Amino acid sequence: MAWRRITTHVAVALIAIGVSTSSGDFARAADQTQPETQSVRKARLVTRIDTKDRVAFITIDDGRSVTESMADFIRENRIPVTSFVLPEWLKKLWEPTYSTFPNMTFENHSNTHRRLGRMSLEKQTRELCEASRLITKIAGDTPRFFRPPGGVMNNDTLKAAGACGMPYVVKWSVDTAGGVVNPVGARTTLQRGDIILLHYIPQDTAVLKQVMKMMKEAGLKPALLRDYLP
Ligand SMILES: [Zn+2]
Repeated sequence: MAWRRITTHVAVALIAIGVSTSSGDFARAADQTQPETQSVRKARLVTRIDTKDRVAFITIDDGRSVTESMADFIRENRIPVTSFVLPEWLKKLWEPTYSTFPNMTFENHSNTHRRLGRMSLEKQTRELCEASRLITKIAGDTPRFFRPPGGVMNNDTLKAAGACGMPYVVKWSVDTAGGVVNPVGARTTLQRGDIILLHYIPQDTAVLKQVMKMMKEAGLKPALLRDYLP
């Protein structure tokens, strides 16, 4: 009886040791992976800027072609523009067009303009990092922001942007689809901190002029996102 009780105690003690050893190993393994996951900081999603300055932000996407009238209007008025241009088109139009704008930054809009919502984190990271690499090579400056094609994104998009060195994913608070300036929510005027989405398409020359007029009426000046999202 006594012997059996002792063996039972030993067995229990061994199980206890076994459990504590394995959980100890597990904890150590988790600790070792922590620095890696912590070093990649997730990007922050931004749709407007919280600022007391009377400024709004003109952002223009895609960029297969830029009309002469739009290019002239941007240059003549020295309009600060945040461009989310695909690397392929940035490269094709760098010399004649994009390099001539006086106050423009070039940010990341993916490499192939595919919708990211259903892509794995790995594929999203490849899309974004490759675009940043190419833009840096062409423009000589590394993108700080990412805008998802079609605004379609998920939590992994924030991780991918962070992993590719971009601290912000930027959407918008004012849409101009169909040539109509359309602030998100129940308002018709522009407000300080608005991020306005346009595209490099022929009809958006008129939209850009309309946006500049509305900004003037609201007492706002255009500014660069990089000056407000360091
Ligand atoms: Zn786009």
